[in-house]
Amino acid sequence: MNNAIFRILRYSGLPFLFRELIQRRMVTIVMMHDMSVRAAEQAFRYWKKHYNIISFNDYLKARQGKAKLPPKSLILTFDDGHKGNFLLMPVIEKMQIPVTIFLCSSITGTNRHFWFLQKNIAPDKLKKLPDAERINKLRNAGFEEEKEYPGRQALSREEIDEMKRSPFFDFQSHTRTHPILPQCVSSKASEEISGSKTELEEKYGLKIRGFAYPNGDYSEREIEMVEQAGYDYALTTDAGYNSINTNPFKLKRFSVNDSESIDEIIVKTSGIWGLLKKLQCRIYL
Ligand SMILES: [Zn+2]
Repeated sequence: MNNAIFRILRYSGLPFLFRELIQRRMVTIVMMHDMSVRAAEQAFRYWKKHYNIISFNDYLKARQGKAKLPPKSLILTFDDGHKGNFLLMPVIEKMQIPVTIFLCSSITGTNRHFWFLQKNIAPDKLKKLPDAERINKLRNAGFEEEKEYPGRQALSREEIDEMKRSPFFDFQSHTRTHPILPQCVSSKASEEISGSKTELEEKYGLKIRGFAYPNGDYSEREIEMVEQAGYDYALTTDAGYNSINTNPFKLKRFSVNDSESIDEIIVKTSGIWGLLKKLQCRIYL
């Protein structure tokens, strides 16, 4: 069903209009997680042809007035640091595309698992619970946050070391263990935000300036904590475009859902999908 909608929207001419009328003057940021090599190759080829892919640093420099941005600037981001991201390295290097990967500092480089990938429990329900309750429910379902499982899900230390030598990879923070921050008590939220910065800097020698709110969830409290911890910017999953004046701790992103469908990639990157979702929310409210 959705496929047919994406196809209709793609050929409606709207993506072209959005690109030329809105995105020409704005900065678009897209979010992926664990895209397959096939899907990434296809999406990268499309983005390279129709947008100007810039690094986060280019954007930050433009915000400081030290650089000018090309029209239709596009930033590519990956959340969580899934091990599959390493498989994209040859494509990224061949196509010379800068990407930013947001790592969970206590999961990366270990065999610990991502709680939201636990099979026998619905992650969306857990996201709505107070943090201690979420952890309890996970434990009852057989998931332990600190357990070293036989197989890993996150990038390994060696992979990060190899990727960070490439000029096309930039690593930033996505907390330590990926809790839903507004559901945490203050001490935990703060420890997850500032602790991940320290951990990534000390363990991997990275300079951490950016943060992505897990699941895109944040409140005024988190914004303040991120700023206090010394980050320069933070990414939400609020759908929308950015300018050089957008609040740096509330940068907007479009999720492209690791899709293998180029129709979906085109429609979601243009922002049409995000806009329709917003309208739909308003109608239902
Ligand atoms: Zn995440």
